[in-house]
Amino acid sequence: MELDTIAAISTPMGEGAIAIVRLSGPEAFDIADHLFKSVGDKRLKEVPSHTIHYGHIIDPKTDQVAEEVMVSVMKGPKTFTKEDVIEINCHGGLVSVNRVLQLMLTNGARLAEPGEFTKRAFLNGRIDLSQAEAVMDLIRAKTDKAMNVALGQMEGRLSNLIQRLRQEILEVLAHVEVNIDYPEYDDVEEMTHQLLLEKASFVKKEIEQLLRTSQQGKILREGLSTVIVGRPNVGKSSLLNSLVHENKAIVTDIPGTTRDVIEEYVNVRGVPLKLVDTAGIRETEDIVERIGVERSRQVLKEADLILLVVNYSDELTDEDMNLFKAVEGMDVIVIVNKTDLEQKIDMEKVRQLAANQKLVTTSLLEEQGINELEEAISELFFTGSIEAEDMTYVSNSRHIALLHQAINSINDAIEGVDLGTPIDIVQIDLTRTWEILGEIIGDSVQDSLIDQLFSQFCLGK
Ligand code: GDP
Ligand code: ZN
Repeated sequence: MELDTIAAISTPMGEGAIAIVRLSGPEAFDIADHLFKSVGDKRLKEVPSHTIHYGHIIDPKTDQVAEEVMVSVMKGPKTFTKEDVIEINCHGGLVSVNRVLQLMLTNGARLAEPGEFTKRAFLNGRIDLSQAEAVMDLIRAKTDKAMNVALGQMEGRLSNLIQRLRQEILEVLAHVEVNIDYPEYDDVEEMTHQLLLEKASFVKKEIEQLLRTSQQGKILREGLSTVIVGRPNVGKSSLLNSLVHENKAIVTDIPGTTRDVIEEYVNVRGVPLKLVDTAGIRETEDIVERIGVERSRQVLKEADLILLVVNYSDELTDEDMNLFKAVEGMDVIVIVNKTDLEQKIDMEKVRQLAANQKLVTTSLLEEQGINELEEAISELFFTGSIEAEDMTYVSNSRHIALLHQAINSINDAIEGVDLGTPIDIVQIDLTRTWEILGEIIGDSVQDSLIDQLFSQFCLGK
């Protein structure tokens, strides 16, 4: 496969004074050598792999020193992409790193697409598909928790689990094969049915467990779409501001983020909130007024979380009541704001209206109750098992779709056994399950592998 040489700024996570330009591909050493000058005129092409060299990047057009750098030289295939890799450490921070990148791009390298280094690692067989996708997720990950999920996946947690499940299925398939080869043994058939039901149910349970985590996975990756509602002047903008200022706002220069709906990401105790349509809430005092009744209903319906704000120092109005009605049955946190002022609201009534919902009182002006609100948000979404550190989240929609398919085909197999379907038909469903799971980890060599395994299993029988 002929690939070109790609370059990008790949500064490691976290801020630092050092910024790195990474080059990968067949021309990496040549391009670097063209621009790099060191004492003694070392040729990077000729130095031992995995060594670091001090020198300068020179602009060949002007012969001027562009940057003082340290260059790491890594020869393929012992690199992340399996290609030749050069990493240029610039000490001057972002400005200098950009200058170096520009020089690479005008001297033979192409700007890497997001995730392209990872894609190469996959294409070159360095990592499997689910690991590659985990890196993609990592690139897009918006919060610490999402980052951990992506990291866990990258370390192959999902791959391991899928591989284990496939192994279980293979064992059954092998038994089925024996059964077909030696139909005269009655007990073999009995055993096979028994085993098949047992293992298939086990695999099914494991996949279902995985799928249960997928909703949380999605939330972790995309953020909880959160809408703040309330009538004018109750403190919606104040709430938004304190959420944004109390918590680190999450960077939003994510490719593909649409600009027509303004979204603000904040990380509340590990829960990524995507505050939807906050522009609307900011600009006019009334979301319903601004975007119309129909559209606002739609926005509410699509929200994962509603923050409904009412005014402690005012009586409940019809408009408040309508809002309570509009969000019935949804995940709502009711916020009674302005507790620093004289009470006019009927708290008994509010408690009734919020009977099935969390209720928090705040004075946003005096910064009271914000902790409780954050507590309520995180409780709502990280209750029970989801906090478990070693959980394998599935957050990739392709994986989720494949897991659903796997469940379907394993159900077919289980049903087949129940109905007394001939075992070689059941075998087809099981093989299908095995293949679908293989697609998650990008394993498409099913036939040969099956043949190989069976030939071993059946040998000498
Ligand atoms: P919105 O119309 O719902 O977005 O409400 P704003 O956030 O714009 O707030 C309306 C007014 O109420 C502003 O003058 C805020 O400073 C004030 N306000 C917000 N929260 C509180 C609070 O907890 N106590 C008091 N006394 N005033 C508040
Ligand atoms: Zn406002």
